[in-house]
Amino acid sequence: MYLYLCFDVEDLVHPDSDDIPADIATMLADDGVVASMYVVGEKARLWERRGRWDVITAVAQHDVGLHTDHHSVHPTASEYLADKGWDDGVAEALAQEGPGAADLARLFGQFPSSWATSGSSWAPQIPAATRQMGIPANVYAHVRTGDGGACWYAGQLCYGEYFGIRGGENTYCDDAAFEAALPDLLARVEAAQRSGLACLGLFCAHPTRLRYTTFWDVLNFFRGENTPEAEYKSAPRRSDEEYATALRNLRRMIAAVRALPGVEIISTRELNSRFAGEGGPVAWQSLSGLAEAVLSSEGIAAPYPVEGAGGSVSAAAALDLLTRAVVRLAQGGAPPTALLSRSILGPSELAPELPKSFEMGRRAFVGYCQELAQQIGASSQLPAWLLVDKLPIGPGPLLKACAATFLAWKSSHDGVLVEIAPAPGEPDVAAELAQRGIYDKLPGWPPHRPDLRLDLLAKHTRLQSWSLAPASLRA
Ligand SMILES: [Zn+2]
Repeated sequence: MYLYLCFDVEDLVHPDSDDIPADIATMLADDGVVASMYVVGEKARLWERRGRWDVITAVAQHDVGLHTDHHSVHPTASEYLADKGWDDGVAEALAQEGPGAADLARLFGQFPSSWATSGSSWAPQIPAATRQMGIPANVYAHVRTGDGGACWYAGQLCYGEYFGIRGGENTYCDDAAFEAALPDLLARVEAAQRSGLACLGLFCAHPTRLRYTTFWDVLNFFRGENTPEAEYKSAPRRSDEEYATALRNLRRMIAAVRALPGVEIISTRELNSRFAGEGGPVAWQSLSGLAEAVLSSEGIAAPYPVEGAGGSVSAAAALDLLTRAVVRLAQGGAPPTALLSRSILGPSELAPELPKSFEMGRRAFVGYCQELAQQIGASSQLPAWLLVDKLPIGPGPLLKACAATFLAWKSSHDGVLVEIAPAPGEPDVAAELAQRGIYDKLPGWPPHRPDLRLDLLAKHTRLQSWSLAPASLRA
């Protein structure tokens, strides 16, 4: 099992918190360990302004990811995306997070390996936007599927499985508490490994919390408040002795986890490269199995099993494949050995419900499939609907109709009728994804403003469940 060591470097309030990631980075580099330092863009700019090149140089020995551009300073990620649709939301996320990625690349000499959620401030546009800006993964993602520890969502590689020592940073500062908690942590890592997880994040620390007993943002950015710099409140500070104890125990914990058989410590950057890209060739022969899976239930699965493409495809990729397969059949001749499964986003709107079934000739349906394949190919996104006989037909009914047409191809002819029937507008997991990823998580983060709007975030989380599929390691 690959295990990546997570550090959230984020304190924008206490200048002397700058030393802590440098101490950790130097200590771990001495041990030959490469950790993942998720640094807030503004934190890196503060180091630059304060001339802390010693800190930047120390941290640059490790993998660097972007822990958002400005963390808890309002508006946070969920807050700036709360009233957005899809395209304007992706554009906003690019505008908000892009400067952080550029600054980390400039200061550390490495483009961020990942975007790591701050607190629970997440939105479904983030994975799409970070992929667009060239960041290859999201850490602490709010979505998951499969049991490998990583999935594809909105075109991005998302890592969702992580945990840390019981009691967090307070535990490191107290030898007795640490002795008591370490065996439990090691047992949980071993259990995760036995369960077959491919990768796991070990949450190591918010470095600032090895010095400060309270979070910098709870004091200054609580529930929507933006305290001006001149009025920053400082947190109670731990003694030098407690700090030294914390560093020592952190080092011991990492050494103990590293010694577990079958656990390989890896940077997030290296882990990204161990995963195969999304999609890949899907054997033509397995497309009937895919079509049967689509028709085997009334709902829409996410993902669907296939031969090739890592063993499964998202519901969006399934629609793309079956649409192109129908078009290919209509062209005649020998079919190809495989079709390439592509990374396809979910739609940006929910289609109106189809009130009742209707039928059309197969030749006409193939024409609509050509149009759909072109639209998907041009945008890498499912359209919200396709106008069929002036009726808006969503991806759900289209997926079912394509699957049925593909399976019936051999025994039918152009005069045969294709039925377009009402079907769900989103995959079966959509509601649960929004519940867990938005409603259960966002309101509980102390900095989030109490009136944070959740409905649009939930809506787009649901719609992007079309793009959800497990990620698989390279063969
Ligand atoms: Zn954070």
